[in-house]
Amino acid sequence: MHKLAVVAIGGNSLIRNEAHQTVPDQWGAIGETCGHLAAMIAAGWDIVITHGNGPQVGFALLRAELASDLLHPVPLDLCVADTQGSLGYMIQQALRNNLLRLGIRRSIVTVVTQVLVDRDDPAFLNPTKPVGPFLTRERAEQYRKEGKAVMEDAGRGWRRVVPSPRPREILEMDAIRALQSAGFLIIAAGGGGIPVICEEGGALKGVEAVIDKDLTASLLAIGLRADLFLISTAVDQVAIHYRTPQERWLTEMTVDEARRYLHEGHFPPGSMGPKIEAAIQYLEAGGKMVLITSPSAIGKALEGEAGTRILP
Ligand code: ADP
Ligand code: MG
Repeated sequence: MHKLAVVAIGGNSLIRNEAHQTVPDQWGAIGETCGHLAAMIAAGWDIVITHGNGPQVGFALLRAELASDLLHPVPLDLCVADTQGSLGYMIQQALRNNLLRLGIRRSIVTVVTQVLVDRDDPAFLNPTKPVGPFLTRERAEQYRKEGKAVMEDAGRGWRRVVPSPRPREILEMDAIRALQSAGFLIIAAGGGGIPVICEEGGALKGVEAVIDKDLTASLLAIGLRADLFLISTAVDQVAIHYRTPQERWLTEMTVDEARRYLHEGHFPPGSMGPKIEAAIQYLEAGGKMVLITSPSAIGKALEGEAGTRILP
């Protein structure tokens, strides 16, 4: 029996840097990360992959903004669905090519994934997550008249803001589980999943919101009873007193320590905060181990020689 890991790959695995936004650049970043994931599979791990989509949703919304005289706007649920498809395709191909180089043949499949959020999640009353390009004051005013929330961003201009409700349930979980046990490598719940609500009578409906990918990844790891929840991001380790003279990189912490450091403010919302929250949620639900590290350090981290381990 192989051990199962849910691997959440962050934006840095999908794009090299904000200033170098070409398609070959994206293939380069994904190829490199998939090289490390292929090595993990060759070492005997089974993996289910999930990923972020922030920059790609940004590109889609910028395109829609620039084409707004000609074409309809792109609803966010469709935006997430689109990026699950395009990024899923890229990961499928890059992982397959990297596995072939190691002499491994596996079928890889992406699951378009809806994630249920509560209709009355307090986030809907207080949209906080900026999405899309910077807007002029006039354009922002137009959006506001259409009923869409906008906010001025630290003097840099206006942006749309959308709610970021908590993920409650991965709706395609049964299919993901079945595919996983049938031996497929799966990419699922990309971008935190397509946010949907359940209406009176049980009908589902997409909403203008985005879900944090780390929190959804933790639901995926819980639902699959994964042996490991691996969060791959832009830093090799987690630190307390990050970017201060007292900075201390952590090799290991318990879930209690993680909770305490989170309360003490070591992990800001929107970056390390949701990863630690996701780690705590997974470990509290019976998860065995969380590893946070960068793509290139995954191999060493699996051997206990890099990264930050979080244990029950
Ligand atoms: P991802 O795209 O992988 O979700 P984020 O940018 O959202 O990445 O979060 C990872 C980033 O969090 C790191 O690149 C780092 O700059 C930042 N960070 C904030 N606080 C800490 C901390 N205490 N320890 C390590 N990194 C931190
Ligand atoms: Mg993030």
